[in-house]
Amino acid sequence: MSIPFLDLKAINLTQQDEIEQATRRVLHSGWYVLGKEVSAFEEAFAAYCGTKHAIGVANGLDAIFLLLKAYGVGPGDEVIVPSNTYIATWLAASHCGATPVPVEPVEGTYNLDPARVEAAITPRTRAIIPVHLYGQTADMDPLMALAAKHNLKVIEDAAQAHGALYRGRKVGALGHAAAFSFYPGKNLGALGDAGGITTDDDELALKLRTLRNYGSQKKYHNELAGYNSRLDELQAAVLSAKLPALDGQNRARAAIAAIYDQGLAGIASLRLPEVPEWAEPVWHLYVVRHAQRDALAARLADAGVGTLVHYPLPPHRQPAYADLGLAEGTLPISEAIHREVLSLPMGPTMTEDQARQVVLAVRAAVAALDAA
Ligand SMILES: *Cc1c(COP(=O)(O)O)cnc(C)c1O
Repeated sequence: MSIPFLDLKAINLTQQDEIEQATRRVLHSGWYVLGKEVSAFEEAFAAYCGTKHAIGVANGLDAIFLLLKAYGVGPGDEVIVPSNTYIATWLAASHCGATPVPVEPVEGTYNLDPARVEAAITPRTRAIIPVHLYGQTADMDPLMALAAKHNLKVIEDAAQAHGALYRGRKVGALGHAAAFSFYPGKNLGALGDAGGITTDDDELALKLRTLRNYGSQKKYHNELAGYNSRLDELQAAVLSAKLPALDGQNRARAAIAAIYDQGLAGIASLRLPEVPEWAEPVWHLYVVRHAQRDALAARLADAGVGTLVHYPLPPHRQPAYADLGLAEGTLPISEAIHREVLSLPMGPTMTEDQARQVVLAVRAAVAALDAA
């Protein structure tokens, strides 16, 4: 048996014709940066998310960074981020000169705990960045209420959650603005780096369009000291070709998750993801927890089941953040999560039979570990 963690090539080849048509169209257009393809994708993605605007940018990190810049976040400011997230969420704040202030998650959902967020707000706090981790939304209503009370901006980090719902409402339209990554392995992935921002705020959208293009609205006139963070025509065309398949692919992921939920229920030593009644996740990852994570991963590898760890080390324990001085033990929930999480194979081209084989392999591996 050999079940890969994720088969990106197979996923993209399900739309081979549409993607090849898109790339050919760009080749023959003679126009490769910020043109018709980018505008068309921005329009389609805004409609998909139910926002007034979508702005294509170079990648997901830039999407968060440019939003913080557009909101005027800078040195001396604090930005509340999850203690357990991909490091990009923190780096976006750091690259503005602001300080990322980590807040611990709710254990079962892995998402930001609103009760702990309030305690972390200071007069320097400017923004909260909830991450919809593993494809399930954070609990947004209490966060938006806190933001209103303290006059803060809420930026969704939606890099792992294209299409997820919160109380029936779509990701991307839940905060003041949202940042997306279209990195190849995300639920909506390009054939290279790409990112996007959604918002209903007209003024913010115009500022972002200016910032991503050297601070320029008119060629060779630079109103702002901007950046080069443009989405290119090729990636935009590929994303437009792939977007219509996203909901179907997310449903296929949910079917795999349902097989895991059912097949792996009732194992005392194995913690499964918890889905609150208000959440409709898109299962970017299906993450389980076990005290002997590394041994479990090794046994699954021997059985031909590919797994990954998201993530082995929390941002505050990365050498990149040594200067924050957050020693081992400062964020115990996050640290325990990082020691114990394991992501099982997940993707829209996985078959239900493969999912059942993963269930059997996990059950056998956990039984052997728990008996030892
Ligand atoms: C992938 C990811 C990002 C960064 O996206 P890039 O396109 O790789 O820059 C940010 N936040 C989270 C939670 C991610 O998973």
